[in-house]
Amino acid sequence: MKHFKQMVVAPLVVGLSTITGMWPAANAKEPAYPERPITLVVPFAVGGPTDAIARTVAQRVSVELGQSIVVENLAGAGGTVGATRAARAKPDGYTLFVGHVGTMAAAPYLFKSLKYDPIKDFTPIFRFPDTPMVLLVKEGSRFKSAADLLEEARKAPGKITFGTAGVGSSSHLAAEHLAATAKIRFTFVPYKGTGPAMTDLVGGQIDAMLDQTNVALPQVQGKRLHALALTSQSRMPQFPGTPTLTERELPGFLASTWYGIYAPVGVPKVVVDTLQKAYLKALTNAQFTDSLKKSGIEVLPPEVVGAGPLRDFTVNEQKKWQRVIRDAGIEPQP
Ligand code: ASP
Repeated sequence: MKHFKQMVVAPLVVGLSTITGMWPAANAKEPAYPERPITLVVPFAVGGPTDAIARTVAQRVSVELGQSIVVENLAGAGGTVGATRAARAKPDGYTLFVGHVGTMAAAPYLFKSLKYDPIKDFTPIFRFPDTPMVLLVKEGSRFKSAADLLEEARKAPGKITFGTAGVGSSSHLAAEHLAATAKIRFTFVPYKGTGPAMTDLVGGQIDAMLDQTNVALPQVQGKRLHALALTSQSRMPQFPGTPTLTERELPGFLASTWYGIYAPVGVPKVVVDTLQKAYLKALTNAQFTDSLKKSGIEVLPPEVVGAGPLRDFTVNEQKKWQRVIRDAGIEPQP
């Protein structure tokens, strides 16, 4: 069962919808959690890859839980607006947050005045599937290949306008990483999420983007966007004929976006256990995992998706991004 309604509840809220699971028969042994709908804060605009994957996961997990999950889009500042709000929510398990490589790993090194600590203020719950990324231009663009784009960027530093989902978003991080690896410069154009950035890419207002495959795929199939190169280790059947960057132009260059569900620190253990169990159950549902795989999303094995592995992974990713940001010479925002 799925209810979909849009409504604006605050200036920063881009959209809101309810995903309703099925209610199981009452059982006295069931944990007291969750007794009412859960709010899932998605820190990017509706229609982007984070929003899409969060809704798919939320819908399946809500069925496993027998409770609704309400997706609330709180976009801005590369996802840190939503993260700040979620960090300050009551730690009762009724506000959860979709964190990712940007908000949970890179943000402390990109924003001098970050108002939350990804490790101290959040409890990791489970890790989502990973999404590979793809270098995109408008269909009919002057760039027919990744080599064309890199060559122009070398000859005319800053001429290419490159859309991102905001400073510190995964699309921004991947593009900065690309620029540093190829020793080129782009002019970045930040948006409140991939959704609005992609609209402008299709409309020709910006030249290129590097973003997740799951929302790029329908645009490429519909011939509105052209996929120049994938940033995965190998080619993907969903993008026939699209090479990887690592096979020619940039050997060793890989980029993907990881996600995790986090709760404000201090949530009761039953919350972590119940949600983790529901997600592990969801992973055994072939319809759910197949729908993710179809858009190129990599479904991770159960042993790496739990709260413990997600905590260790977040800590390691912080170290990695601290290094990448320093080596790329990216100036932190005031
Ligand atoms: N793809 C975005 C990012 O770069 C977020 C989004 O709009 O889903 O982080």
